[in-house]
This record gives sequence, structure tokens and C-alpha cells, in this order.
Amino acid sequence: MGRIFTPSEGDFGKTDAIVVGGGIVGTATAFWLSRAGMDVVLLEMRDGLSTLTTPASAECFRAQFAEPAMAALAIPSIDMFEHFDEIIGLPGYSISLKQQGYLFLTDHPETVKDLKENIRRQRQLAITDSEFLERDEILARFPYISPNVLAATFRQRDGWLSCHELTQGFAKGCDARFFINTKVTGIQLDEKGVCGVTTDRGDLQSRIVVNAAGPFAGDIGKMVNLDLPLEPVRRQKVYFKTEVDIPQDAPFTVDVDNNSYWRPEAGGILVGWVDSDEPIGQPTEKVPTDWEFPAIAIDKVKRLTPFFESIEKTIRQPDMDTSAGYYVYTPDDQPLIGPVPEVPGFYLNCGYWAGVMLSPEAGKRICDLATGRMNPRENPLRPTRFKEGVATKGKTLMSH
Ligand SMILES: Cc1cc2nc3c(=O)[nH]c(=O)nc-3n(C[C@H](O)[C@H](O)[C@H](O)COP(=O)(O)OP(=O)(O)OC[C@H]3O[C@@H](n4cnc5c(N)ncnc54)[C@H](O)[C@@H]3O)c2cc1C
Repeated sequence: MGRIFTPSEGDFGKTDAIVVGGGIVGTATAFWLSRAGMDVVLLEMRDGLSTLTTPASAECFRAQFAEPAMAALAIPSIDMFEHFDEIIGLPGYSISLKQQGYLFLTDHPETVKDLKENIRRQRQLAITDSEFLERDEILARFPYISPNVLAATFRQRDGWLSCHELTQGFAKGCDARFFINTKVTGIQLDEKGVCGVTTDRGDLQSRIVVNAAGPFAGDIGKMVNLDLPLEPVRRQKVYFKTEVDIPQDAPFTVDVDNNSYWRPEAGGILVGWVDSDEPIGQPTEKVPTDWEFPAIAIDKVKRLTPFFESIEKTIRQPDMDTSAGYYVYTPDDQPLIGPVPEVPGFYLNCGYWAGVMLSPEAGKRICDLATGRMNPRENPLRPTRFKEGVATKGKTLMSH
């Protein structure tokens, strides 16, 4: 059973692997490294695990990716969500999995072609259970969608879960130690590569250090003189508590033409919008929200989901809760996973805009690379892909 605690002097010393950052990505990484038999310490500067970007997320997951490297992370991650209690060895442990599907909608003739193309690519990636739906089928299955809709893609096994339970499950299901209230301030190097980290509470020695610091991964990179290609961009979502009758069995529903989305949530509804004009930001722990965001978000989603007009008419300020975090982009919009050859022992697991849904397999991949079970050349998300000229930018829905 992993222990989550604020360390004292005697807890510092030598360890097999250090993970910097206790969001969902770092916690999943610590789980797999520990399960491989390593003595693992995770360092988190805040007073709990998954308290920064991870809880700001909409907690959703999908296999509907057209990029091979993203699908290769997402598909096994969903398998792990489906068998999570077995994987962590705690029978009956729940992550509140809801497989109500992902529904990508469009009312633009041009986008219909893109959706069809996505389904074609998904078939090539062995995603056989996503569906292309035309208007009548959409309205028959999801009667609350606007009759203006033209087409959609849908996959029933996509859905959402509880990030809190996922994080705690990974922590409970391994023997790693999770040091909270412990900030990494430096990384120590010697002639062989990384040899430890400095924190505000003490120093640790290790030949493996994984950078899973979310929006602050660029700062951790600078500690070993790396300028990582990471661009944090603020993203917001809002929860509305409402008396309006929300279809509780609805899928995560996306208007792909304006990058807005909604899904049912206990007592109300969750709404988000990915604003393509939001600038690259300098990450902060307290992420500001815009007072006008709820109104803009409703305006975006109501186009294809008309019941938002009733919500708009009845909603009151105290019934809205807006939160924000960062999407962290890379030049090809896919994460950086794996060792950095210039700094032996330094690994990256960062650069996520969909880190919740990819975290189980991404953490496992770090472990496979660190233990030699995976050849770095077989890892398409290796950080060296840009220098090698082998990176290809996908056209992922909802990323920008
Ligand atoms: C509005 C919104 C909606 C989203 N919806 C989804 C979704 O539906 N599905 C999905 O998959 N993704 C979603 N995402 C993205 C997802 O939330 C992130 O990709 C994911 O949470 C990243 O996890 P992480 O562990 O890398 O980062 P974080 O959760 O930010 O964890 C990084 C941790 O590192 C710690 N840290 C940083 N520097 C240091 C240091 N020097 N020393 C010690 N600790 C340090 C931080 O305190 C933090 O706890 C959404 C994001 C937003 C903002």
C-alpha cells in the first residue's frame, strides 16, 4: 500500500526512481515503476495528489483518436479503466466509470467529411466499435440534439470517471512513497547523468528521475539545462447546478465546429469550450477564470443542444462553478514520453492536453522504457522525434 505523507529528515536517502509531480500522470508512473519492483519516491509540492490540473479536467476518456500514437495510449488505458480494481489488486475498488460514450457532432457539410475520415482511420488503428451516424439516427438515439445536426461519430465504450478515485487507486495499489508538501528545487547531475534531486525538505539520490510536473514540466527541464518544447495554455470549464431536466444517460457531447462540449454531472451539467484564441501562458498554481466564461460556454453548446436555452434562462450566479487549468501543447500536440539522451536517467512524461485518459498506459510506458522492456526506438512519442524529423502533427478533434 503506497503511503502519502509529508516527509521528515529521516525519509530522505537513496532510492531507485524519483517521480517529480503528483498529478494523475506522475501517480500512474509511480505505480508502474513500483510494481516493477523499484523503490520509488514521488515528490509533490502541494498538500495532496492530483490537486492542480487533474481536478480541473472534465475526467473524460475516449478511444476515438485518428493519430496512431495517441490511439496506442488511449486504447490500453481504457482497458485498464475497465479492469482497474484487478490491476491495482483491490477487488471492488471503484473509479466511478461511466461508459456513456463520446458523441462528436457537426452541422457543417465540410466537417462531415472529416468525421468520415476519422472513422476510416480508426478502423486502420483497430478501433472497430466507433460508429458514423447520420442525422436521423442521431435524433433517434439522442432526441435532445438539434435537428440541424448533419452527422456524428459515436463510441459507446468512451466515457468518464473519477480522477480522485483513479489517483488514489494508483497510489494505494503500489508500494511507492508519495512525499507531499515537498517542492523540487534542483536536479543533481554527475558524469554519469542524473544522480538525485534537491527539495525544500531534503535531498534524495537516484539514477532515474521522471519529469511529470504537468504545466511546470518546462521549469523542471530547465534544472537540467533543457529547453523543452512545451506550451501551456489555460482551459476552462463550468459546472451548472440546474433544475432543468438533463438526460442522465447522455454521452460526452462535442460540437466539433466550435470546440464546445457538455456532459451530465450529478445535480447538473458540465460544460467546456476550448478557446483557440487563448494565448500561451506562464503557468501559475492559482489559475484565474473569466467571469464571462459560463455565458460564452452556454452560447457555444446551445447551438446543437437546444435545452441549454432553458438553462440559460434559469441559471443563477451561485449555481455556477468555473474552474481552470492548463493544456500543455507540444509541436505535434502529442506528449513527450521517455528518456532524454543528453541527460542519462532523466525521463519525460509531460506535454499533455488529455493526460487523464492517457495516463495509465503512459505511466506503464515509462516503466517499460526504464526497465528495458521497451526499446526507445519503438516508442513513437520519444522526446527526440522532433530532432529526428519523424514527428507528424495530427488533426485531433478538441485539442485546439
Ligand atoms: C478544463 C480542462 C478540461 C480537461 N478535460 C480533460 C478530459 O476530459 N480528459 C483528459 O484526459 N484530460 C483533460 N484535461 C487535461 C488533463 O487535466 C491534464 O492533461 C492532466 O490532468 C495532466 O496531468 P499531470 O499529472 O501531467 O498534471 P498535474 O495534474 O498538473 O500534476 C502535475 C503536478 O506536478 C506538481 N509539481 C510541479 N512542479 C513541481 C515541483 N517543482 N516540485 C514538486 N511538484 C511539482 C504540481 O503541483 C502538480 O500537482 C483537461 C484540462 C482542463 C484544464
